[in-house]
Amino acid sequence: MDHPTDSSSDRETANSVDNADSDLILAASPAARRSRQARVRWGDHEVTIGGDAPVRVQSMTNTDTVDVIETAIQIKELAVAGSELVRITVNTPEAADAVPHIRDQLDRMGINVPLVGDFHYNGHRLLTEHPAMAQALSKYRINPGNVGKGDKKDRQFAQMIEAAVKYDKVVRIGVNWGSLDQELLAQMMDDNARRPAPWDGKQVMYQALIQSALSSATYARELGMNPDNIIISCKVSGVQDLISVYRALSRRCDYALHLGLTEAGMGTKGTVASAAALSVLLQEGIGDTIRVSLTPQPGESRTQEVVVALEILQSLGLRAFNPSVTACPGCGRTTSTTFQELAKQIDDFLRAQMPIWRTKYAGVENMKVAVMGCIVNGPGESKHADIGISLPGTGEAPAAPVFIDGQKALTLRGDNIAGEFHALVENYIEKRFGGH
Ligand code: SF4
Repeated sequence: MDHPTDSSSDRETANSVDNADSDLILAASPAARRSRQARVRWGDHEVTIGGDAPVRVQSMTNTDTVDVIETAIQIKELAVAGSELVRITVNTPEAADAVPHIRDQLDRMGINVPLVGDFHYNGHRLLTEHPAMAQALSKYRINPGNVGKGDKKDRQFAQMIEAAVKYDKVVRIGVNWGSLDQELLAQMMDDNARRPAPWDGKQVMYQALIQSALSSATYARELGMNPDNIIISCKVSGVQDLISVYRALSRRCDYALHLGLTEAGMGTKGTVASAAALSVLLQEGIGDTIRVSLTPQPGESRTQEVVVALEILQSLGLRAFNPSVTACPGCGRTTSTTFQELAKQIDDFLRAQMPIWRTKYAGVENMKVAVMGCIVNGPGESKHADIGISLPGTGEAPAAPVFIDGQKALTLRGDNIAGEFHALVENYIEKRFGGH
């Protein structure tokens, strides 16, 4: 019988497999957009944004800035959670006067995080009349839609830029569709109406957002601002809108981009919407610093927005902050909550230890831990982790095999499986990441 070994259909199959393999490799690498690099400085410290810097995480306080201690404590919490820059509202002369004291308090607490001042309406006056505040901040956020109307607009914007030039500060020119420059939008709407084929209103609004940011940046450069120290944002609250705006923005300029979905909302909705929008753009190499604008649920810590931002970057493989815990979702094979509790205990334990481990064990943030519910996927997933445990499912023998570096190392039994597994994880970290 004739069995051709190299028929055309066999070759097609082989080719399609080759093609599929190369597609997978390409999809695994986020694209790179190389922007200018801003240097945010305070004292002897510096945080770079853009260029070859990793995507930075930032957040914003929701305390009254006038309350120095409460604000400094929240900044500390945000910084310890992983925020690399923290923005504070500077809205009154009293808030402006508080800023240098907040900086001093942070320095006394050893909190090395730069402060960003958020200005609207009166920033030109505050930055001119409160030089100690202008110096204590490392970066100013300027919203071109909120700097003044008519002939005051350019003059007041210029006063803020002059302060940034004088004190050598980074600025974010941050446009937001909730406060878009209405004069510019009206002008662009009129121009659009005269087109032979007018764009739809949304498209005009996107263009107005981008134009407001970029023309303000051009004006800032005319006033002497170093273009490296200009960061741009054009925030909107719709996922698809944000993706469209930032794709266009990234094509039109090489400034570092601050990326965030404004007014993302509360809880799961805000988290998912932010992750969806930011992930698409970050995967395309768009975004040099991110903020997740979550509305805290009653009683929820402000640090949740930082936790989500870190998770987005770590999930995309762009940065590593904490050891990752792979846990199965559980199913009818795990009718008890034992493995859920153990997965949570391990996750909490790793996060709680990280501030200490980060300084003691270089590279520990890349560790992978697996906590699995039964023998179906448990041993396999555990072998892929650095250290993993496969708990007994319903009806399985009451034993939990532990895998270390892909090999079955031992089996835990009894009532203290969680405690013994914690000790094994600590021991593993000490051996693998401890001093050499
Ligand atoms: S590993 Fe076991 S318990 Fe976990 S989801 Fe799979 S089958 Fe269910």
